[in-house]
Amino acid sequence: MPQGVLLIAVSKTKPVALLQEAYQAGQRAFGENYVQELVEKQPQLPTDIDWHFIGHLQSNKVKYIAPFVHWIHGVDSFKLLKEISKQAVKNGRTIQCLLQVHIASEETKFGFSPDELRTEAASFQPADYPGVELSGLMGMASFTEDESQIRSEFKSLKGLFDELKSGEFSALASFNQLSMGMSSDWKIAVNEGSTMIRVGSSIFGSRN
Ligand SMILES: *Cc1c(COP(=O)(O)O)cnc(C)c1O
Repeated sequence: MPQGVLLIAVSKTKPVALLQEAYQAGQRAFGENYVQELVEKQPQLPTDIDWHFIGHLQSNKVKYIAPFVHWIHGVDSFKLLKEISKQAVKNGRTIQCLLQVHIASEETKFGFSPDELRTEAASFQPADYPGVELSGLMGMASFTEDESQIRSEFKSLKGLFDELKSGEFSALASFNQLSMGMSSDWKIAVNEGSTMIRVGSSIFGSRN
């Protein structure tokens, strides 16, 4: 793994025993997609794990993971960010948040459009979101074999990240992570500047 890139082991649908094995091998960052599954697994595993919630998060479920989650990758509205802030404060915690950007050609994937995010970022006031550190962006490339398309989608996300980092979010020291890349495309993502890759099936085997 290149220096400075965090490998998140995506363990959704996998039994606790497999996570324990990865933990024994030294893995500390785990990613889960479903609130109930994460809430069930977390107490069964060591307390020094960094939990990354990478799925689609509904506002009314933030309260269940706020007591222990470290990172939330799929923040797709400032309304959701507000709820995360509220629950983080309630628990006396700081939660690192990544804004999800829609970069794929499929319509089904969640996230801000780049223009939407530029507009919202222009009026962003960190003081309105205590307990939250806006830590960067997250995106998923199209589900395609076409490597050049995947590369250009990651390139556009990196471009937007750089633009916001030196522009709208330049006052935010925490804005320094770019979560992109999964089992099939992490090499391309790392080449294009990813700092966090979310890898499931290559580590734990394919899911049913
Ligand atoms: C499931 C999932 C992953 C991991 O996918 P693999 O192809 O198994 O590596 C990464 N990111 C998100 C958002 C996911 O839902």
